[in-house]
Amino acid sequence: MKKQTEQSGVMEKIVSLAKRRGFIFQGSEIYGGLAGTYDFGPLGVALKNNIKNLWWKRFVEDREDIYGVDAAILMNQNVWKASGHVATFADPLVEDLKTQKRYRADHLLEDAGIDPKGMTPAQMDALIKEKKIKSPDGNPLGDLKQFNMMFKTHVGGSEGDEAISYLRPETAQGMFVNYKNVIDSLHPKLPFGLAQIGKAFRNEIAPRDFIFRLRELEQMEIEYFVNPKIAPDAPGGWQSVFEHFRLQMHDFTEQDLGLAKSKVHELEVADGDRAHYSKRTIDFEFDYPFGRKELYGLAYRTDFDLRQHSTASGVDLSYFDDETKERFIPHCIEPSFGVDRTVLAVLSDAYHEDEVDGEVRTFLKFSPKVAPIKVAVFPLLKNKPSLVKKAREVYVMLKKELGAVGIHGIEFDDNGNIGKRYRRQDEIGTPYCVTIDFDTIEKIDETTGPTVTVRDRDSGKQERVVIKDLLKRFTL
Ligand code: ATP
Repeated sequence: MKKQTEQSGVMEKIVSLAKRRGFIFQGSEIYGGLAGTYDFGPLGVALKNNIKNLWWKRFVEDREDIYGVDAAILMNQNVWKASGHVATFADPLVEDLKTQKRYRADHLLEDAGIDPKGMTPAQMDALIKEKKIKSPDGNPLGDLKQFNMMFKTHVGGSEGDEAISYLRPETAQGMFVNYKNVIDSLHPKLPFGLAQIGKAFRNEIAPRDFIFRLRELEQMEIEYFVNPKIAPDAPGGWQSVFEHFRLQMHDFTEQDLGLAKSKVHELEVADGDRAHYSKRTIDFEFDYPFGRKELYGLAYRTDFDLRQHSTASGVDLSYFDDETKERFIPHCIEPSFGVDRTVLAVLSDAYHEDEVDGEVRTFLKFSPKVAPIKVAVFPLLKNKPSLVKKAREVYVMLKKELGAVGIHGIEFDDNGNIGKRYRRQDEIGTPYCVTIDFDTIEKIDETTGPTVTVRDRDSGKQERVVIKDLLKRFTL
């Protein structure tokens, strides 16, 4: 096979494959869509669940010091006042005075070759005016305004201010407000963390790049609490915990997701560019087909959130150390992962094309751990009952045996000819195809029993394997 992975137009190909094969669809598609929303189809949800399960296993199940929670999406509006979101969770926006279309001021400056990093909204506004920057349609722009990105709603029958709530823009606050509940119910000792996977909503002005910048997104976040009295670089101190999670985040991308190491980069966020609550932030960036962009974040949030919520709620969120008899507000390290950006990284890293018999073959080179379908089982011919019967037997056996160890995604397929089935499985990234052919039922070695062929997705090579050795043949 000739390798000819193509870079140009890869995003369009991924979007089209994702739709054609049932991974990802435009949200509300039959009504013309809703910008910034996407729906996951049968294969997309399996891929996404595999990613979330791998994350949950690494960061919650395999550890003793991180506890899972699942907080409500709607929260008391005071949560978002205390966290600073009501006042500051805003994007700088300018309006085209002719078309009334709105644009991100920082994006317009970038497009004009000016780096907006570290600039205040007032500085951006002044520069847009000074450089006479126009809208993409060539029209004059109005004054810069701060646009709050939270979706506002009213809870219950009242439309008054007291009934205001927001769809949460991050899962993090659900953990800070449950910190005391977990301490009071499970009595964990520092250092310990809370973890959560769930939806978040941001009214992005310019949703774009498929599922990269969404208005409805999903996050996997950890709030890990440490004792600020421990020296930063001593075990349990903030710096050593930060370093531990930095390495864990790399291990997650490489060992669990199978992402190419060379495509994941760290960016130390400079003083002026960090969020107001952070004393250190590393952005993990990924080489997407449309450029190097933020995949994850790792931040040292100090005691900002617990202190704010203590003051605003009047509930004491300090921690009492039994050993030293000291009381203090813990500090927090936050590793934050976007589920959708992970799905896109996995899809784009996996996308490959090569040439088989003069034809272009598209295949997704998923790591078996994330692949939605792990093994597909075929009878060579659909109209030979003896082949179909044996194929179903093998399928049921694999489904049962692998299901017993928590591995799902075993598929039976007898549609079309065998070549078409291989192409379809290649396109959805199935690592192994098992075919039951005439040798399976006719050439049976008395000592080893019947054999099948196992085809490897990446090389396209087939080998004969004894059915009872099949499970050993797979690396899943
Ligand atoms: P960006 O600078 O790209 O807007 P951010 O720095 O605001 O992202 P965080 O607030 O740190 O992002 O959110 C944590 C993670 O949630 C991000 O690293 C990303 O993976 C994901 N995320 C944030 N905003 C979006 C979005 N609009 N669509 C999809 N994922 C998102």
